[in-house]
Amino acid sequence: MKRYKILVTSIIAIGLLLIGTSDPIRNIRKSTGFINKGYKANLQTDDNKKDGNVQKNSQINEKFLICIDPGHQEKGDSNLEPIAPGSPSKKPRVSSGAAGVATKKPEYVLNLEASTVLKHILEGKGFKVVMTRDSHDVNISNSERAIFANDKKADMVVRIHADSLNNPSKTGASILIPQKDGKYTKSIYEESSVCAQIVEGKMREGGVQVNGIFQRDDLTGFNWSKVPVVLVEMGFMSNYNEDRLMSSPEYQRKLMQTIADGLEEYFMTK
Ligand SMILES: [Zn+2]
Repeated sequence: MKRYKILVTSIIAIGLLLIGTSDPIRNIRKSTGFINKGYKANLQTDDNKKDGNVQKNSQINEKFLICIDPGHQEKGDSNLEPIAPGSPSKKPRVSSGAAGVATKKPEYVLNLEASTVLKHILEGKGFKVVMTRDSHDVNISNSERAIFANDKKADMVVRIHADSLNNPSKTGASILIPQKDGKYTKSIYEESSVCAQIVEGKMREGGVQVNGIFQRDDLTGFNWSKVPVVLVEMGFMSNYNEDRLMSSPEYQRKLMQTIADGLEEYFMTK
């Protein structure tokens, strides 16, 4: 009987000892901790790779100068200027642009808001950026804006505008480029067109409604330009919903990000 008690006590003691050393929950925690660590390490490697790419891109991007032209200004100037160097054809120097049907915001305000967002994104990518204006109370004609970019030897000019029509249901962005066989724009058509196509692709990828790329031979800002240029009409201020959308900081950021991504891809081929 005494021997039997000793045996039972020993078995219980050994059992307790085993339970103490093999805590199943602790073991599970240990193994997931290991998995977590491994996962984190992988993430870190990906981050490093990404950082490396960003750094490499920004080293490439800093070779390029982009001129942003926020369309219009507070007070239009109806004095005339030639639509091209030496042209007898004349148009007002610059107008104050459209206005939002819902927001009542003037186009020159919207254009500068969006241009400023674009500037920050491009600078974040490493590009050098100049703007034709950073306030509303200026008087810079369309030819003067083009000459400004020519003098700076910009690698690309991005003109930011918004559309307006009598038809309030019309929506969508458009990209305008110089005319292929334009008397004044032959030499800048090709690069402008390539850039516009890449930007258009990025805009569509980003879920932006784009109506297309349109050549224009009547825009003073194109005809005076010696450097490639694209003009983005962001959407229609004459459409209630699109007008409000264009004024939303989230949408401005999304739209300008697609344009910046397009520019970056264009310059990667240079
Ligand atoms: Zn405009």
